[in-house]
Amino acid sequence: MAKPQIILLGAPGSGKGTQAAKIVELGYYHVSTGDLLRAEIKKASNLGKKIQDLIGNGQLVDDQTVLDLLQANINLAKGEYIFDGFPRTEVQATMLDKQIVKKAKAVAIYLDVSLDELVSRIVNRRTCGGCNEIYNLINKPPKKEGVCDLCGKGLVHRKDDNKETVQNRMDVFKEQIDPILAYYETKGMLKKVDASINPDTTFKQIRKIVES
Ligand SMILES: [Zn+2]
Repeated sequence: MAKPQIILLGAPGSGKGTQAAKIVELGYYHVSTGDLLRAEIKKASNLGKKIQDLIGNGQLVDDQTVLDLLQANINLAKGEYIFDGFPRTEVQATMLDKQIVKKAKAVAIYLDVSLDELVSRIVNRRTCGGCNEIYNLINKPPKKEGVCDLCGKGLVHRKDDNKETVQNRMDVFKEQIDPILAYYETKGMLKKVDASINPDTTFKQIRKIVES
């Protein structure tokens, strides 16, 4: 039985990238609109030229152009895809449905974790400047403050990871995601998975959805 197309939804820091990489191992193609945009420009197709003009003029690539890009590059009859980073609005969700997903079997998987928890995770995150190992002051602190356990180099707190910036990013996310979740809920497509424990537990739930 064919696996469902996946629309992967989750807040910054919810582990979306990690889960997408695991889902790819199940035989999925990962659709990153950013990568598709770059590839299309490189191909210099008509669409690629149009995109290049928009970007060159400092304009945003509009929704319909992104949809055209998806249309040109994917074939749901031939494989299973993970849509990641798109849709970002309810309008985009509707367009994706009408123009791409249509009658295909599809689920919207939401990586469910409290946004307050995510803010705390990100604010307490420290990254090794040497080997990029990631620490967390609350649940994975280094043995010696400010020093990497693995390579002994100093730990870095990214400037963007301060409380105000992160809280603001989450507020924006919440405003965007609520109508999208409501949309998929109404369509009976929404599956929420608990993403608060660890990546393996999250993935087990996703695999169950995909293989059921
Ligand atoms: Zn290190």
